[in-house]
Order: sequence, then C-alpha cells, then structure tokens
Amino acid sequence: MQVWKFGGTSVGKPERMHSIKNLITKDGKQKMVVLSALSGTTNTLLSIAESLYKNNDPEAIQKIDALYAHYQAFIKELYKTENGLKKGQEIIEKEFNFIRSLVHIKPFTLKEEKEIAAQGEILSTQMFTAYLEEEGVKAVLLPALEFMRIDMDDEPMLDFLDEKLGEMLKPHTDKEIIVTQGYICRNPQGEIDNLKRGGSDYTASLVGAGIHAEEIQIWTDIDGMHNNDPRVVKRTFPVRELSFDEAAELAYFGAKILHPFTIRPARLRNIPVRLLNTMQPEAVGTLISNQTVSKDIKAIAAKDGIVGIQIRSSRMLLAYGFLRKVFEIFEKYKTPVDMITTSEVAVSLTIDHVSHLKEIQEELEKFSTIYVDTDQTIICIVGDFTFNQNGIVNRVMDALRNIPLRMVAYGGSEYNISVLIPTEYKEQAMNMLNERLFFYEETMKTIFTAP
Ligand code: ADP
Ligand code: ASP
Ligand code: MG
Repeated sequence: MQVWKFGGTSVGKPERMHSIKNLITKDGKQKMVVLSALSGTTNTLLSIAESLYKNNDPEAIQKIDALYAHYQAFIKELYKTENGLKKGQEIIEKEFNFIRSLVHIKPFTLKEEKEIAAQGEILSTQMFTAYLEEEGVKAVLLPALEFMRIDMDDEPMLDFLDEKLGEMLKPHTDKEIIVTQGYICRNPQGEIDNLKRGGSDYTASLVGAGIHAEEIQIWTDIDGMHNNDPRVVKRTFPVRELSFDEAAELAYFGAKILHPFTIRPARLRNIPVRLLNTMQPEAVGTLISNQTVSKDIKAIAAKDGIVGIQIRSSRMLLAYGFLRKVFEIFEKYKTPVDMITTSEVAVSLTIDHVSHLKEIQEELEKFSTIYVDTDQTIICIVGDFTFNQNGIVNRVMDALRNIPLRMVAYGGSEYNISVLIPTEYKEQAMNMLNERLFFYEETMKTIFTAP
C-alpha cells in the first residue's frame, strides 16, 4: 500500500478536493490518504485561541462566525447531491458547536488551544470522506487520535502506531481509500496534541513506516524540493533526486516543503518519499531514497530564529570534561544544539528553542563568560563536499564574501556545510549562493564578457 499526503492548498478549495479524488482513485489501488486542514484554517483556529487567551470573547466569536461561513460556502460547492450536502452540514455543525463550546471555558489553557488547533484536520477529513462516499468510492476514515501518540519527550510512539493501526486496518481490506488526519495526536495524558506546525508530512511518514508502505507521497503546491527557497530566491528549480540524509538536512534546516522530522521514519524503514505537485500531477517531482546520486551541490535551505551562544572558558577550554559540562546543561533543559564550532578558548553553538535560554545562560555563567546573539539564520548548503574535492567550499566562501559570518561548520558530514549569519543578510546571502553555486558558468560568462 502507498501513503499519499495532501497539504492545505491541495484541499483548500472544493474543486481541489474534486481533483484529488480523481488522482487517488485513478489506478484503483488501495491507499492511505493523510489530509491537512484546508489552507488558512489552522492559522485562523490559532488566532481564535489567541483571542480566547486574551478573554476577548466577542473577537473570538467574530472569527468563528467568519470561519463557519467559509465552510458553509465550501460544502455547497463540494457536494453534488442533497444527501451529500446534508452530511456535510451535519459535520460542520457538530465541529463548530464544539469550537463554540470552548469560548465558555475559563481559564482558556494550552489544552483547549490544542483542541481548537486539531479541528482543521478533523473537519477536512470528515468532509472529504463524505465526498468520496457520495461519489461511490469505498472509503473509511480512521481517526489519527486512536493510533498516533507522543511520549513525554514529544516523540511519536512508532511501536504503538504499528500495532494499533495494523489492528484498525484489518476490517477494511475491501476499502479502496483509507483516510486519516495529519498533524494531530494524543499525548501521555490522553489529551489532544499535535506534531507541531506542518506536522501532516510527519504523520504521513510515520503512517508509511507503521504500515511498511511501498512509497510515501507528499502532494503539495510545488513540483518537488527546489534547489533553494522559492520564497526568497527568484531562480529556483526542482531537484530530481535526494538521499534520505540530504533531504533530512534540508527539511531540518528550513525547507518548508517538509516538516523537519519527516524523513526519520521513512529512512528507518527504507521507504522512498516522493514529493509531487497537486496542481501539476504529471511533473516528475523529487524522489528521496537511500540512493545518493551525482557528486554535486543539491540545494540550499535556511532556518531563522536562531540564537548563537559563545561560551568562553575561564580555564583551558578543551581540557576534558568542559564540553560535557556545557552539553549537560542543554540536555537538562531539553534544548537541542544545531551547530557547534570550537577554538582553544571558546566554543560557539546555536539553538532555536529559546524557552529556557535564561536558565541555560545562568548555569553556563557559573563557569564561563557568555555572549548571546539573537536574530540569526543558519544557511545550510547540501551536496557533495567530500574533502572539498570540487573546490565547492571555496565557491561558498566566495559567494559569502560580503556577508558577516558568525560561524562556519564544515566537515561534520561530507554532504553539508552550514553558516550562521545575521538574519538581515539572509536574502542577499541566499541569492549570492544561488548564482555562484547553481548558475556558475552563466555568472562567469557575464563577468568575462562584460564591456
Ligand atoms: P503544504 O500545505 O502542502 O504542506 P507547505 O506550504 O507546507 O505546503 O510547503 C510547500 C511550500 O514550501 C512551497 O509552496 C514553497 O513556498 C515552500 N518551500 C520552501 N523551501 C522550499 C524548497 N526548497 N522547495 C520547495 N518548496 C519550498
Ligand atoms: N494544518 C497543520 C498546519 O497548518 C498541519 C499541516 O498542514 O501540515 O500546520
Ligand atoms: Mg506543509
């Protein structure tokens, strides 16, 4: 079986739901289909939560009414029969009654926020399954809240998923399409929780690993992983093939097309991941697998909101035990470290979880001097950097010659180099890198033929 995931834009309009029905039923093969919320819905739900935190009930009610009107209009175009529309009406009535009931809960807490945030996927999957049924497709909706769990460290419980989903699938061998929600899960307290923004990709990969799928397909609004962030750089193009390691690196360091952890479960069970475009289904897209192809530069990604911390030791830094002391503090506050560089007198590292920054700083200051830089960006360049054999590191440095570099990490693996820069230089740096790494010959020609 394959797992196909459709993102917000892919389900964001009634006619898109009509076309994905055609896409998923074309080959007649049984599939698991993971859906996100309709585009914009999760943002709206979170902004309703924001109003409720502020106790601004009239504002929350106004936002709920507007969202409700949007869904009313949506179902009128989605369904073609009176019965279908009636079913759609029942679905949105039930879920919006629930959303409205949260307005009366005081105080409004994180628990209620997560319940509200989950409604997007709960709505989209019910509406879509009812539409498939209206069209005569044999379909069933399996609630993700029954098989997707996270543990105390927010880690998805894959063994539980394997077993539970296996059981839940058994009675449905006759179904062509098995629908489920992306993003949502339950936490160890049994409450509704989620896999963080963009988490539907992660759901698809976890489900794919859980059922040992033949392939995981992520259908979105672009024709695969591009060589650079199309929101920041004008001239980008799709990368045909990536290895799991390369894709994991790009996703972790900011390529929004994939949730940062999507690749982990797929790599664990060696399941290929294909990125495809719902608006242009015939485009080849990107295939991510355990194969490494061509020795070249593949792509660039950037992650904002990074804090750089320089830790200067009062005594000799690299005396053994010092780094352990440093990293134990980050471990204690469950704060992952992304980049590290060292010198004889100092170690610099980066974090993006800043909720415990103050405590971390206080503990580090007991035995060192600390310098903290906020508003930093990590730019990650992925490709073949084996011993700089292609001279590519030189090209990277040349492209970044006018950018203040705060840190450079090279040699951690042979397939990436990362730099830390102030966020204000991000656009300039990514465009310079793009020209120098992907349009090198063209750029050189312009330089040498210029009058
Ligand atoms: P979905 O709602 O389908 O999950 P997302 O908006 O989360 O879609 O992800 C797709 C978007 O990711 C694209 O529209 C594009 O703007 C953005 N993006 C950022 N970096 C890349 C990249 N390297 N390649 C492709 N898309 C990227
Ligand atoms: N709907 C969720 C979000 O907007 C999950 C997803 O789209 O992947 O973050
Ligand atoms: Mg997404």
